[in-house]
Amino acid sequence: GEVLVELRGLKTHFFTDEGTVRAVDGVDLEIRRGRTLCVVGESGCGKSITARSILQLVEAPGRVVDGRILLRRGGADGGPGEVVDLAGLKPGGKEIRSVRGKDIAMIFQEPMTSLSLVHTVGNQMVEAIRVHNDVGKREARERAVELLGMVNIPNPGRLVDSYPFQFSGGMRQRVMIAMALSCDPGLLIADEPTTALDVTTQAQIMELLKRLQRELGMAIMFITHDMGVVAEMADDVAIMYLGKVVEKGPVDDIFHDPKHPYTRALLESIPKIGHRRRERLRSIKGIVPDPANRPAGCVFHTRCDAFMPGRCDATVPPPVALGPDRQVRCLLYGGDGGPAPGAPDAQT
Ligand code: SF4
Ligand code: MG
Repeated sequence: GEVLVELRGLKTHFFTDEGTVRAVDGVDLEIRRGRTLCVVGESGCGKSITARSILQLVEAPGRVVDGRILLRRGGADGGPGEVVDLAGLKPGGKEIRSVRGKDIAMIFQEPMTSLSLVHTVGNQMVEAIRVHNDVGKREARERAVELLGMVNIPNPGRLVDSYPFQFSGGMRQRVMIAMALSCDPGLLIADEPTTALDVTTQAQIMELLKRLQRELGMAIMFITHDMGVVAEMADDVAIMYLGKVVEKGPVDDIFHDPKHPYTRALLESIPKIGHRRRERLRSIKGIVPDPANRPAGCVFHTRCDAFMPGRCDATVPPPVALGPDRQVRCLLYGGDGGPAPGAPDAQT
């Protein structure tokens, strides 16, 4: 599919008393029209900051310091279209606010943080709809009811007048999705939208997002730490570690032919059917290092099973293309294009 949003060399840093934290450290990503990109990694790897950077939602002391965030607008129906660099727009300015909700909408893990407690769901939706569309209150309200129906809120004509606290967690997430859809965005960014929900509700929300994507054709950037969710949702996958994309590619390649030792470790940590979460076959050793104290060379070297002393702690792995949409950053790969000696698939 055609690339809708493209991140090139994105850097988002936090300027703290203890020094500069490179939360996002040169990220290249492609989000394609009508497809789902899952961005996966443990917490603290820069997934949320990457997503927030796209909409200029990073709060001080953080800020986008370098790179491009290219949004392709229009052109889908044969028109000329235009490319906007969102990184160049003023945070809080009129232009980025018009992108938010209209071109790109975002939902979060905890819907209550973005819903007002003192207004009915309907009034909040009417307001959101009217920010971007020149419609009257009545028409906006009809649209709100229609959207609540689309996300399977029962009896939407009545529940439109309820307050957010009257809904369960899963229903609130549906309301958030309905609000996000109110301006028909080309891209929905979903930051761990199912993490706080029980397993059944989680599955329902994932089904809902997939159905809406089929019906509306929107792209989804889905952020998660859970490879099980990736298997369910992704068309494309990007694995992040300490502010870098260490591997990316189509979901089948990532699951059937993972290259980066971090990707392999994440896959081995998926709980198997019949096991409880605590009985994972293997968990990744160690913890994500403090982003303020990044390891030299390959940022994963302190936890890597394939660590090569003198190389991995000295050289930053460059991106190596393994195919048109497939890339890895690990010193086991590259050079002549084939796997280096000692690479997991070098054996003949
Ligand atoms: Fe492991 Fe070295 Fe590859 Fe980093 S570069 S992932 S430390 S083998
Ligand atoms: Mg996060």
